[in-house]
Amino acid sequence: MGQVYAFLKAMKQGVFLERDGVLNQAQVERHHQVTPLTFKDFHVNKEAVPLLKKLKAAGLVLIVTSNQPGLSRGYQSRRELDRMHDLLRKTFPVDDILICPHDGTDRCPCRKPQPGLLVEAGFKWHLDLDHSFVISDKWQDAEAARVAGCTSLLIQSPWVRAVHRDFVLPDLAAIVEKILFLHNAKRMATAC
Ligand SMILES: [Zn+2]
Repeated sequence: MGQVYAFLKAMKQGVFLERDGVLNQAQVERHHQVTPLTFKDFHVNKEAVPLLKKLKAAGLVLIVTSNQPGLSRGYQSRRELDRMHDLLRKTFPVDDILICPHDGTDRCPCRKPQPGLLVEAGFKWHLDLDHSFVISDKWQDAEAARVAGCTSLLIQSPWVRAVHRDFVLPDLAAIVEKILFLHNAKRMATAC
């Protein structure tokens, strides 16, 4: 019993972040977000930097997740993607970046709304998924969060749709405040 308790205590809480529209800008064409394909077109959202630092300071593990079907379809160069993600790591205090390279027709378990990337990160980083969080502006991440058992927080956007989600808030700042509140509430409860 002592060992189980020690293991559970050692588990960390994570925050999963969608990339496009949250950490970097995404163009909108014909009511769809268009993912940047080149480093030149990749622009990070600098205002998110202090917000992610707050999450990091609270002891949360920060994981970026992204569907990148262009890798298997052939229109996204791996080299350009690596350059974009090097910039993300330099700009934000993120611990890991996990991508699904597959096309929808591949029927892989990692393309969001499937929860594969969350589950993979959970194993790799010893995360307690039940007490981890997902941030996005799109329904697919909320659905992945629901299946994996995470709390989902969506930024109000045209891509939220009517799937199950735990919170829809106006911006990333409000979401970070909510996560810090929930995270502290859980720590207080554990301490009692
Ligand atoms: Zn995949």
